[in-house]
Amino acid sequence: MYKIIPVKPFDLILLGATGDLAMRQIFPALYRRFQVGQLPPGSRLVGAARSQLSTSRFRQCVRDAIRTHVLAEMQDHQSIGDFLKMVDYARLDATSSEDWKSLSAYVDPGRVTALYLSVRPGIFKNIITSLKEHRIVHDKFRIVVEKPFGFDLRSARQLNAALSAVFQESQIFRIDHYLGKETVQNLMALRFANVLFEPLWNSQYVDHVQITVAETLGVKGRGEYYQRAGALRDMVQNHLMQLLCLVAMEPPSRYLPDAVRDEKLKVIRALDTVQYDHIVRGQYIAGTETASFADDVNTPDSKTESFIALKCQVRNWRWAGTPFYMRTGKRMRCRMSEIAVVFRDPPHSIFGSKSVLKGNVLAIRLQPNEGIDMRLTIKEPGPGGMRLIDVPLDMSFARTLAVGSENLTNAYERLIMDVVRGDQTLFMRSDEVEAAWAWTDKVVETWNEHNLQPISYFPGSSGPDDSLMLLHRDNRRWREIVC
Ligand code: NAP
Repeated sequence: MYKIIPVKPFDLILLGATGDLAMRQIFPALYRRFQVGQLPPGSRLVGAARSQLSTSRFRQCVRDAIRTHVLAEMQDHQSIGDFLKMVDYARLDATSSEDWKSLSAYVDPGRVTALYLSVRPGIFKNIITSLKEHRIVHDKFRIVVEKPFGFDLRSARQLNAALSAVFQESQIFRIDHYLGKETVQNLMALRFANVLFEPLWNSQYVDHVQITVAETLGVKGRGEYYQRAGALRDMVQNHLMQLLCLVAMEPPSRYLPDAVRDEKLKVIRALDTVQYDHIVRGQYIAGTETASFADDVNTPDSKTESFIALKCQVRNWRWAGTPFYMRTGKRMRCRMSEIAVVFRDPPHSIFGSKSVLKGNVLAIRLQPNEGIDMRLTIKEPGPGGMRLIDVPLDMSFARTLAVGSENLTNAYERLIMDVVRGDQTLFMRSDEVEAAWAWTDKVVETWNEHNLQPISYFPGSSGPDDSLMLLHRDNRRWREIVC
């Protein structure tokens, strides 16, 4: 089932190696790649953080992380032991220039060095300065920058400028793990490897597009960050924007990094400023067993949104008149992410006025049950006249491709190996990030001008009622948020 694209031995230095992201996602992803033979012997995985840990203690932490975060049937004692032999630990305070000297021992200019910044963005600039000062960067050096990439256009520009003073753009990997998801990649295959959809992929046939990323968790534990960022900056500027780009972009001439990113950039630049009455901000209140957002962020009068819904317009020939609705929120009914392309109703029913014809819907599910679902109208079997029903033409990966979701390559697995290979197709370019921030800043300006405050919603709901109204006003409705 797996096809491995071999890579030469490399070094990965993971800064922030004791943190949540490293332990929950990155090391488990590396272990999975090791199991399928993707990590060549001689590669080194160096964890770095401030904690005083011996390498053996750190390896124990990584072992525990694999035990917890990799499915039991996917792990085995022998391979975990072999994997851990590749893992090393270096104590390092990234804000101390002196500490960086010791890291030079792990940098071999003869092979790929990937430095993964899994630390808070406040120290990115110190890191970049130290890398320059100690001449650590070489031609095969790559830097991976986690989100958030800036807080607004100004800070994103500053960060891009700091990075470009030390790195070529081809060495900078701004990661958005949504782009590494199997279904998101499949969206491109579906659009550009089939002739079926592309003729219909425009405002003549597509009524509207819905992008939903709903989470059940609150923000406890990330309160300080979230109180400052909110749902727009945390989710829309990056993840939802990337999904919108992949739906709306023109076919690139080749599946090559700059060809794909050029087309995504054009979409962001074609996005209209969102009108104030097309923005709904929400904030969850306390539930029977859960705290309110204000308590979670420890700010009683918090005006930050934990939910946002937007109606956006892509002003170009293909999409004029087809709105893109986006919504994302915390503490919602279910954990569900999907893109739904809702086609127009047929112009005329030959089956009489009793048969209500509905437009087809193509739903691309990111979670749970990654897959693609197309709804078609057919005749209900049996006697009783021409009765029509809506049925799914299901392409869930689990059934169609006989792949359990546990076997799907995790986004981090794919993206880390892309960094090693130097393939930037699924990473954001500097101009793309800046364009997304320029659009996001305007949304914030608009809500500030109109003093749009977050509206309360119940935990376990679909967000505030005003977000339902956003579509009702257009005679449309959101798809159900279902688990
Ligand atoms: P975290 O759990 O707080 O971990 C932070 C890591 O940084 C720890 O290993 C910490 O270890 C290390 N660290 C802090 N200050 C340091 C310094 N001066 N020098 C060296 N190491 C230092 O944070 P996280 O959740 O893993 O997130 C890390 C980054 O990824 C953040 O920017 C976050 O926004 C982003 N991100 C996280 C997720 C996620 O699911 N967690 C998802 C997307 C993006 P010591 O205290 O031992 O130094």
